Amino acid sequence: MPYTPEQQTLLEHYVKKILAAPVYDVAVRTPLQAAPALSETLGNRILLKREDLQPTFSFKIRGAYNRLVQLSDEQKALGVITASAGNHAQGVALAARELGIAATIVMPATTPELKVLGVRSRGAEALLHGASFPFALTHALQLAVQSGRTFVSPFDDPDVIAGQGTVAMEILRQHQGPLDAIFVPVGGGGLIAGIAAYVKYLRPQVRIIGVESEHSACLQAAMQAGARVVLPEVGTFADGVAVAQIGAFGFEVCRFCVDEVITVSNDELCAAIKNIYDDTRSITEPSGALAVAGIKQYVARTAARGQTLVAIDSGANINFDSLRHVAERAAACGVPA
Ligand SMILES: *Cc1c(COP(=O)(O)O)cnc(C)c1O
Repeated sequence: MPYTPEQQTLLEHYVKKILAAPVYDVAVRTPLQAAPALSETLGNRILLKREDLQPTFSFKIRGAYNRLVQLSDEQKALGVITASAGNHAQGVALAARELGIAATIVMPATTPELKVLGVRSRGAEALLHGASFPFALTHALQLAVQSGRTFVSPFDDPDVIAGQGTVAMEILRQHQGPLDAIFVPVGGGGLIAGIAAYVKYLRPQVRIIGVESEHSACLQAAMQAGARVVLPEVGTFADGVAVAQIGAFGFEVCRFCVDEVITVSNDELCAAIKNIYDDTRSITEPSGALAVAGIKQYVARTAARGQTLVAIDSGANINFDSLRHVAERAAACGVPA
């Protein structure tokens, strides 16, 4: 084992939580699907983990449900509050409705309307506050203190991380052959921490590669500094990952389990949305295309051939109106198909 006893204990702790997470009350086991055109173009076998096919069109219901289901009866009666750029909000709203818990969700004022509607239509209260996630977060934390409701972090929580880690459990069961790397989109690091903990415990030779928007690269900054840093500003084109500081629980895992972090531009995301569309006839949101954009950059840089590379296709919540911009950039930006 390549890890210290303390690290090994931490991974084992998460693996147990992941195996015990009752996420399938609300989540589905999503397909791990071949991407033939991308595979052909890139000279590697590319598999897409289709988390865009979850009931809320992103993996976030896994972590949200696993967190809410473990609250005490007293906490459930008081209700929950959270801050979210949108997908966690819909996850919490769905999980709360399923469990009969009142939920208030603070979202940045820039949140795409369909994510706001996704929350309200599931019976939760949506408050719009602040220009980006960090402002919404501060407000939600204040409200939680004032109201006695439990704050449910979108990423910085062991139960949330364990819920997201069920994605990796499925991948390793769905694909038992050679596997070189899993590319994971990173916002606050809950998803990658859960995936990395599970995969590194069972198959440490599989590389875990984080992919961030260059406008919110808080994991890369933390890995370089050796400590969590707060980014002075974040761009919100990839609104699902527009986070200024990597979560503390996630970073504890990432610092020794993440092999590499790649950053991609908005144009690379637009091109990747098109790649995914060409292979699946499905549209992803910008954050959902991060991993594919990361694979393309990785293959171009390393000249990798004949490898099996998994991309987490993490979400599909994009306003229909935004597609025009995405299509224009994909056509004009010069990023190779
Ligand atoms: C939340 C989210 C991510 C990033 O997950 P973190 O746990 O915050 O790192 C990636 N893609 C989509 C679509 C998301 O909603």
